[in-house]
Amino acid sequence: MDVRQRIPGDGGELEVWIDRDLCTGDGICAQYAPEVFELDVDGLAYVKNADDELLRDRGAATPVPLPLLTDVVDSAKECPGACIHVRRVSDKVELYGPDAE
Ligand code: SF4
Repeated sequence: MDVRQRIPGDGGELEVWIDRDLCTGDGICAQYAPEVFELDVDGLAYVKNADDELLRDRGAATPVPLPLLTDVVDSAKECPGACIHVRRVSDKVELYGPDAE
C-alpha cells in the first residue's frame, strides 16, 4: 500500500523532528531525504527548513513535503536511534516513529 493512503485526513500536514539525544550520527536519514535531514559538524542529524537552514532548537520540527513523505517515513523506520518522529501538525499525534501507535 502506498504510504500516503494510510494517513488520516488529507495527508498534507505532517511535520518531523529529531530527538538528537538518541541520534547515532550514522546519516541514514540524510541519505534518504537530504532535503529534510542533514548531519552537522557535531555529527548529529538536524531537520531543515524550506530555505535549507538547519533548525537547531531542541525538538524543532519542519514540515514534510508530500513528495518526500515516503523518504521521510522510511528514514523514521530505518533510524537506528529510533529518534525520528513524524506527526500530524494539527494535533501532534505521531504517525511514524517510536511513539506511533
Ligand atoms: S537515521 Fe536517526 S540516528 Fe541516524 S543520523 Fe538520522 S536521526 Fe540520527
